[in-house]
Amino acid sequence: MSTCLFCRILSGAVPASKVFEDDRVVAFDDINPQAPMHVLVVPKTHVATLNDLAPGHDGLVGALVRTGAAIARTRGFDESGYRTVFNCNAGAGQTVFHIHLHVLGGRTMTWPPG
Ligand code: 5GP
Ligand code: ZN
Repeated sequence: MSTCLFCRILSGAVPASKVFEDDRVVAFDDINPQAPMHVLVVPKTHVATLNDLAPGHDGLVGALVRTGAAIARTRGFDESGYRTVFNCNAGAGQTVFHIHLHVLGGRTMTWPPG
């Protein structure tokens, strides 16, 4: 069995609160939300970090971003605003090495991020 946490969520071995799924991506609520909406959009293909993306993943990355935008729109944050984040490697805060798009909304976001 995979030791990757998000692969384990994708297989159903670890439960998650799913908000969307299609043939390429799954979205679920973050277990430690940093905003009223904090959804993770995860590809069904295991890719450890953004550094591992190849041209063949371009459609998949588009699906991740478009899905994040669609979820934000569904929650009513498309006009007021929302934050999307990919952390890449430990120095940027990546703790789960299976790429995922954070989609955060429902509070005022500051810049620069911490
Ligand atoms: P990263 O730090 O890698 O950018 O983001 C990983 C995210 O996964 C964190 O925001 C963390 O709260 C979330 N997370 C860690 N373990 C679990 C889990 O078991 N279930 C869910 N739904 N989220 C998790
Ligand atoms: Zn994985």
